[in-house]
Amino acid sequence: MNPTFPTEAKVVIVGGGIVGCSLAYHLTKCGWKDVVLLEQNQLAGGTTWHAAGLVGRLRTSNSLTKINKYSAELYAGLEKETGHAVGWKQVGSLIVAQSQTRMIQLLRTAAISEWFGVEVRMISAEEAKAKWPLLRVDDVLGAAWLPQDGKVVPKEVTVALAKGAETHGAKVIEAVRVLEVEHAGHRVTGVKTSHGTVKAEYVVLAGGMWTRELGLRCGVTIPLHPVEHHYVITEPMEGAFDELPVGRDPDRCLYFRGEGNAVVLGAFQAESKPWLVDRVPDHFSFQLLEPDWEKFAEPLRNGRWRIPALQTCRFEKFVNGPESFTPDNQFIMGEAPELRNLFVAAGFNSVGIASAGGAGKYLAEWMIEGQPTMDLWSVDIRRFGRWANNREYLRARVVEILGLHYQPAWPNREFDTARGVRKSPLHDRLAAGGACFGVKNGWERPNWFARPPAQAGRGDAVRGGFAEKPDVEYSFARQNWFANHAAEHRACRERVALFDQTGFSKYIVQGRDAAKVLQRLCGNNVDVSVGKTVYTGLFNERGGFESDLTVVRTAPEEFYLISGTAQTWRDLDWIRRNTRPDENADAVDVTNAFGVVGVMGPESRMLLSRVSDADLSHDAFPFATAREISVGRGTVRAVRITYVGELGWELHVSMDQLTRVYDTLQTAGQDLGVANAGHYAINSLRLEKGYRAWGADLSPDDTPLEAGLSFAIDWNKPFIGREALSQQKTTGLKRQLVILVVQDPQPVLWGSELFYRDDKPAGYTTSGAYAHTLGGAIAMGYVNNANGVTADYLKSGRYEININGERYPARVYLRAPYDPERKRILG
Ligand SMILES: Cc1cc2nc3c(=O)[nH]c(=O)nc-3n(C[C@H](O)[C@H](O)[C@H](O)COP(=O)(O)OP(=O)(O)OC[C@H]3O[C@@H](n4cnc5c(N)ncnc54)[C@H](O)[C@@H]3O)c2cc1C
Repeated sequence: MNPTFPTEAKVVIVGGGIVGCSLAYHLTKCGWKDVVLLEQNQLAGGTTWHAAGLVGRLRTSNSLTKINKYSAELYAGLEKETGHAVGWKQVGSLIVAQSQTRMIQLLRTAAISEWFGVEVRMISAEEAKAKWPLLRVDDVLGAAWLPQDGKVVPKEVTVALAKGAETHGAKVIEAVRVLEVEHAGHRVTGVKTSHGTVKAEYVVLAGGMWTRELGLRCGVTIPLHPVEHHYVITEPMEGAFDELPVGRDPDRCLYFRGEGNAVVLGAFQAESKPWLVDRVPDHFSFQLLEPDWEKFAEPLRNGRWRIPALQTCRFEKFVNGPESFTPDNQFIMGEAPELRNLFVAAGFNSVGIASAGGAGKYLAEWMIEGQPTMDLWSVDIRRFGRWANNREYLRARVVEILGLHYQPAWPNREFDTARGVRKSPLHDRLAAGGACFGVKNGWERPNWFARPPAQAGRGDAVRGGFAEKPDVEYSFARQNWFANHAAEHRACRERVALFDQTGFSKYIVQGRDAAKVLQRLCGNNVDVSVGKTVYTGLFNERGGFESDLTVVRTAPEEFYLISGTAQTWRDLDWIRRNTRPDENADAVDVTNAFGVVGVMGPESRMLLSRVSDADLSHDAFPFATAREISVGRGTVRAVRITYVGELGWELHVSMDQLTRVYDTLQTAGQDLGVANAGHYAINSLRLEKGYRAWGADLSPDDTPLEAGLSFAIDWNKPFIGREALSQQKTTGLKRQLVILVVQDPQPVLWGSELFYRDDKPAGYTTSGAYAHTLGGAIAMGYVNNANGVTADYLKSGRYEININGERYPARVYLRAPYDPERKRILG
């Protein structure tokens, strides 16, 4: 595997683990033959060789499930294709539930998997035991059975992929270390290696836990950190276990499988140990860390409970392998925003074997097409900012990540570790006001507020000066903040509420060609007069939403753009990469310069007019306009806009004045009943009004026609994605977004629930909440039909939503179910 050392290639892949080899295989198969893969030691010697080899198909989203499904299918045929055995066995997998909560989660999983095309069947404890005879099941309530899952020998998969890549033209070279990524300006030019320089058009960092360091050396942010992951292998026992399914007992943080006549027992403990090395050693190849029996004592006790035969056997091997974890438990893929043609595929959070096949395929497509071929936002490298690459932060956060695999998948779960990294200047005031914070893109954001004692119901314990503690008690049903959320929701519908939305991404685009560039990027017409604001989508060539944002024209050659908190780097990158070199337009991220207070509700005009000398009447300050106004002694950019469906203004305030402006509003609004309200209220309010959320209801795979947002397209001008959209307009739609309201007032919706039209699965909810004005749970979701969807088709069906395993009738709406102008719930 050491051909003559090349000096030039179209693509250099750094790292010969399963991920790098999968990418080389797929690039060459797709026709990019001039690929060189460089491995500093030996193929698979990093993390891959010691992986347990579990290949599960089901993940939390459609895209990630597609990735894993593809991997399993690829591995199943790899031996035949390459002549190299990979040990693929489709033994199926079994997830046992010991608690009611876990049962509910499995029922939710089983329902959605039907839509994702993965077979999952709920079975009894006895059936589970029949599949894994050594199991103790007297405390098992039931299990999920996934017959298509399997296992492989990870090292052999890697070698087979490398072989396949070589057959298609790649050069796979071991014992060559990449020292630096070379670049000219903002574009890669090649790599400097221990054997000389290789010029390259593209460089891909697939270096596992070494990748962060490689990124740091070329100024690219790749936030990951190694963590210890443990499993043990028993001595040979009586029996043959190789054909047994892969078993998981998430309530006890365990997985297990047979290996010949031994049993492998692994753990995803809630709290894990980062590997505290300054630098991952270069020569750490086919090596393990010291066994840590003390840390493994709990999984061992649990394993001996679940598989009593383990009580009497000895363990022959302790695998303590380090692997890279990311701050949000999703891997990192895509083109780095800092360097053109520098791609990354790393940080696989213990699912790298199951994901490598699909990750290689979709990254190869991304490179060849110049953009992802499906929605890969959850793993997109642009979801982080530089703030996330701080080592102390990473070390604190990754402690929690490994265990997340088996913690209940609460729909609104927030991270417990490494909090408080990005705070609005209002943070301490909001905390004093009872805020329970969540985190988005590092920003601490209030989700809901504990009520002051006076508002507490009789019998509420008063803790810390509030009626309740501002902590979430997780549940798939109504959670402890239900009443607080209701109060905030109503405060906005009936009086006036203040929302801290400081985390919003904000940009200034300016220059002679600013309008021209934005007209090309935006579906809507943004070449409007100064002071006007426009809601618009940014679309890819497929017509899918790359983002949606509000554009404020602040000067003839200057625009102020506002988009979601998560999208800061993504949107900036999209704007910059779509600005041509000869165009005079600069996009600058000003997120950290401006705070945002939303003043929303029927009394918002009254409140603002008490503290501002501006004319806020409808005629003087109409909807979709913006201007600078005074608020007390502060000066703000007020944008008349709403995401909650009430009269309101977003105040964009320079950070130095944010607390002053907020205090002014609080003081002036006391007799109006001004209330702090959180993001949970924003979510339910916007759902009632039919406002879509990018990242949930809108994605790169959803077009504005499917999403019911064609009003935000100006067909009279060219823009990216227009051609695909015109074509879709002609051919008709096969899916369309609807709003669903559950008729029973009791249940709640979170998103990712399967729904049915006339008894047949028709789609899943993309977001959900409890709609307090409507008095029932509300969700959005796309109704799919291969024969096409029309308004009649959508309205005529009988809809039900699968909530925690039970079906509930739901009413379908094509428009917002609530009309705030007339304070009317639509029938
Ligand atoms: C104990 C354990 C059990 C696991 N079990 C499973 C499982 O059952 N199922 C599953 O899906 N996943 C599992 N995983 C996770 C899986 O092993 C990893 O996600 C996967 O191996 C990551 O592959 P990779 O190619 O990204 O990294 P690696 O395998 O580490 O490959 C990266 C390669 O890059 C090379 N490299 C780095 N820097 C340079 C450089 N400068 N120049 C040249 N080469 C360089 C390294 O030498 C290394 O070989 C497990 C992990 C552990 C630790």
